[in-house]
Amino acid sequence: MRNNQLVRKSYLFPAVFIFLTAFSAGCAGSGKEPAESKMSGADENVSFMTVEELMREPKIDAHAHFMALAAEDEKKFIASLDQHNMSWLTISTVGTDWANLRKQISLAGHLHADYPGRVGWVVSFNLENWGSPEWRRQAIETIASGVKNGALAVKVWKEFGMLLKDADGSFVMVDDPRLSPVLDYIESRGLTLTAHIGEPYNCWLPLDSMTNQRSVDYYSEHPQYHGYLLPEAPGYWEQIASRDSMLARHPGLRVVGAHLGSLEWNLDELAARLESYPNFAVDMAERIYNLQEHDRDKVRDFIIKYQDRLLYGTDLVSGWGDKGVEGDLEKLERTYLSDYRYFATDEQVKVHWISPTTVVRGLALPASVLRKIFYENARKWYPGL
Ligand SMILES: [Zn+2]
Repeated sequence: MRNNQLVRKSYLFPAVFIFLTAFSAGCAGSGKEPAESKMSGADENVSFMTVEELMREPKIDAHAHFMALAAEDEKKFIASLDQHNMSWLTISTVGTDWANLRKQISLAGHLHADYPGRVGWVVSFNLENWGSPEWRRQAIETIASGVKNGALAVKVWKEFGMLLKDADGSFVMVDDPRLSPVLDYIESRGLTLTAHIGEPYNCWLPLDSMTNQRSVDYYSEHPQYHGYLLPEAPGYWEQIASRDSMLARHPGLRVVGAHLGSLEWNLDELAARLESYPNFAVDMAERIYNLQEHDRDKVRDFIIKYQDRLLYGTDLVSGWGDKGVEGDLEKLERTYLSDYRYFATDEQVKVHWISPTTVVRGLALPASVLRKIFYENARKWYPGL
């Protein structure tokens, strides 16, 4: 795959882009062809999808987590994915909790072997041994063994920048030269790096200044990750700068930034990174409600412009809730149906994660763009998926 070509390709459609922007303000209902597209006569080839049509399309959730799944629940879970024609890229994560990470790696390898059409996976490596002479050799061994079992990518998590420290107490950033040989190895194997670096902008604000209920809930429950309460940790822009510096130092490494690259609050800042780093794409996991906070037409224009660089993802998890597999599948159903409605139609969508009364209008993206963000981009940015 040549991502440079992908980037250039996205500029080949300015006429379609302008046309879509022009009629988007008025398209009605969830039908395939908003009336304006016929009336304008500008491009009758643009088609749309209903929720039902998008549900039937092949799709990939490029950011999900099988944290645990009882053997007797596997078939039921996979049947739900079948129903949505959705595959999961399950991401193993948190190197500073090696025992838990090893369990995720083992479950992911097993689910991929049993359901190769429905489950792809991302490996990660131990960081509990950071600073020991053998950590790097062990990290590379874990990655190599993951690849043997079908892993397509390697995850680095926000522990770089926010948790992991050297013996002298200084925080280890993701552009640390000691990590470089591991990133070089990932690149040499043709793997993708999945990078969750930093946190949403809200993380560095007090709870009562955050822009959505989801951030308030998350940082109330996880004060250990609440940047506002951690003045000794590097701040928001230091996190972003370290990720950018890592991208600049590894231009040949294909990187998918998790969670809109932690630039969910400002699409211009995100666009600037997509322009600067042609080998960088982002997933939307757990940040669709941030898109829903922005001006609707601005989001729509952004997605159409960067339609080759955005991957659908949710951060859905199996095995963490207190309601068992039924609870996980209920949430899956609710999330996917709401997201299809938001991206495919221009109907009203309730977003309780912003506030109990928030309602936003769907984006009514063209079918060709939906196919990219829900499927084709994941296969391009995670070759082998
Ligand atoms: Zn995640």
